[in-house]
Amino acid sequence: MFMTCRNHFLMIIKNQSVFHHHTCSYQVPTWASHLKNIPRKRIKLAMLPTPVQKWNIKGIPDGIEVFVKRDDMTGSTLSNKVRKLEFLLADAVTQGCGSVITCGGLQSNHCRATAVAARELELDCHLFLRANETNVNFLDSAGNLLPSLLCNSHIYLIPKFSKYKVDIAPKQELLASQIKKKSGKSAYCIPVGGSSGVGVFGYIEAWEELITRQNVMKKYDDIVVACGSGGTIAGLAIGNYLTGEKLKVHGITVCDNKDYFHSHVNEMLDTLGITETRSQNIVDIIDGYKGAGYGQSTFEDHEFYKSIAHDTGIICDPVYTGKALKGMLTELHNNKNRFQGSRILFIHTGGIFSLYDGRITSQLKNIWLKNTYRWRQNAAEPEKI
Ligand SMILES: *Cc1c(COP(=O)(O)O)cnc(C)c1O
Repeated sequence: MFMTCRNHFLMIIKNQSVFHHHTCSYQVPTWASHLKNIPRKRIKLAMLPTPVQKWNIKGIPDGIEVFVKRDDMTGSTLSNKVRKLEFLLADAVTQGCGSVITCGGLQSNHCRATAVAARELELDCHLFLRANETNVNFLDSAGNLLPSLLCNSHIYLIPKFSKYKVDIAPKQELLASQIKKKSGKSAYCIPVGGSSGVGVFGYIEAWEELITRQNVMKKYDDIVVACGSGGTIAGLAIGNYLTGEKLKVHGITVCDNKDYFHSHVNEMLDTLGITETRSQNIVDIIDGYKGAGYGQSTFEDHEFYKSIAHDTGIICDPVYTGKALKGMLTELHNNKNRFQGSRILFIHTGGIFSLYDGRITSQLKNIWLKNTYRWRQNAAEPEKI
């Protein structure tokens, strides 16, 4: 919940659609008020609340209803990471930082969202991107990189298999000290995916939104979301735990594995001072749906993403939501008891830019150009491309 700062309040009266970019005091939901390390500030960046709609996917088992929360609609260039950035960037601004430093893969949604949101607040953005440094052909592929480039982020390429804690975090710290020396201003370091003890409040607050705006406790039995760095699942699982565990929360991994996500959620529990339970009791992490590997999709995967778009008008990204949805449908068919009930709420976390990462291979053309023709005015049939 936002405490109504006076400015914010006046803006709302004058014009509902005017955003103010000042930090506001953060009023944590009452069910979370006993937690440790509650952020004191939040900054409005996202279009909230995001809507929930029925999702009429073909081929779901009889008796199952699927709904989707459109966190892909938090802002066209922002997606799920902006919920965390509302707290992270408020922290950066409050600390008087002039820039932010974060990291991810070359096609990181998190880096793109950070690059955009930072400029909204006139902060400089520095990105460590894991890429093959010797192959700069990536410049041909746009996708998530393009918004980051447009926002003039400083980009540093680092080896593809760099590990966050041992390789990248120290580089971020080093860069922050160099920036401080040069400019006199501090730089704020954000961990991979924005999944920190501050960022997790983005999805703790999303849980409050689900309760107050979408009656989640009465309307749904299960929540399903893709897991990348773990902050989203951590916030949702903790929200559900603190409000009586009415639902069952499932996270489908698209990278790393079950142990990694349980240890991340446990780290968040420790940070928040929740000692009486462990991740294994409050969240169902589902492995086995990475397919060809993180960021890799097969021909069949792409046919699946296309069929969802064709059947429902909702577009899934190939890295997170597409794989999580495929995993969820497979589990609903093969392992129905894993779910608490029949009303499933899938959180669509965005990521559409990774569909446009430049790899329109001939294989993809076979899927995407199936109904594409040259118009021929007088011919009986249009000519297939
Ligand atoms: C980052 C991301 C996720 C996963 O969120 P985490 O909090 O990192 O686990 C899911 N979907 C999309 C599109 C993302 O960019």
